[in-house]
Formats: sequence, structure tokens, C-alpha cells
Amino acid sequence: MCDFDIFLSKYAVDNNHRMLITHSIIPGIFITILGLIFNWHVLIISGFSYSIHIIIDTFDWGTNFFYFQKKQVGFKLLITKEEFNNISKYLSQFKRPESFFDRKYYDNLACITIEILIFILMLLFIILFALKYFLIISIYFIFLGFHLQRHFYLKKIESN
Ligand SMILES: [Zn+2]
Repeated sequence: MCDFDIFLSKYAVDNNHRMLITHSIIPGIFITILGLIFNWHVLIISGFSYSIHIIIDTFDWGTNFFYFQKKQVGFKLLITKEEFNNISKYLSQFKRPESFFDRKYYDNLACITIEILIFILMLLFIILFALKYFLIISIYFIFLGFHLQRHFYLKKIESN
């Protein structure tokens, strides 16, 4: 859900949605606190899952975690320091700058393995705890389709 801020990218530093306040730890904490005040479990769980999303985003490229610092923090496992500091040089090697990030992600065996593991875990949890909501996984496939379609579209552009 937090990644819907991608549609607000044009308002972000470097057009990077990870720099928006929606990709900091602030909304997650805010939602959790609201949940605690109103003692509403749905909000507390939502606050937690929002925070987990933001924490996971620190692993690949980093995210504007503390917001006010205005810089991307995190382990940035998919990008080297050299690449991060000279990002425009690397982006200009591609016809579409997004291709740089797309390729790094899809060429990374660890990322793909983690995606598959999380998918299997999701199936298991739904089957064990929420079988009557099984159809909810169709939402997953809609987003998967969106990402794969984008990946192959970029691949096609770069290979031409
Ligand atoms: Zn995100």
C-alpha cells in the first residue's frame, strides 16, 4: 500500500518516491499510536506491517527513514557506494533510468529467492489461518502481473 506513493514521485526529491514522508518510519508509528489510543487491533497490526515495509525498504536501496534528515538510509544491499554517489553516471547508461534498478533487482538471485519464500509463507499462512479469505491472493497476482509486465517492457526497450 505504501508504494502507491509512486504516483506522487514527481513531488519527491530526485523524483524518488522513497524520499517521500510516506516512505519514512513516521506513518507506521503514527498509525500504531492511534491504534493504541483507540485500542483498535486492526490499526495496531496495520501500523506494524507499514513499519515492516519501510524497514524492508532499507535493505535494497535504502529509504528516507527519518524523513527530516532528507537522505536515504539503510543497508542498500543492491547498490554499491560508488554507484550511489555517482548514480547519474550509471543511470545514463540506460535508455530508461528505471532499468538500472530493475536489472539490479531481477538479476539478484537472493531477491528472487526471498520473493518466492515470502509467497510460499503467504500461502501457508492464508491456508492455516484465513482459508475463507483465500481469494484475497488474487490481489497479489494483480500486483505481480504489474511488476512483471514493467520488467519485460523495460527489458525490451533496453535490448532494442
Ligand atoms: Zn516501499
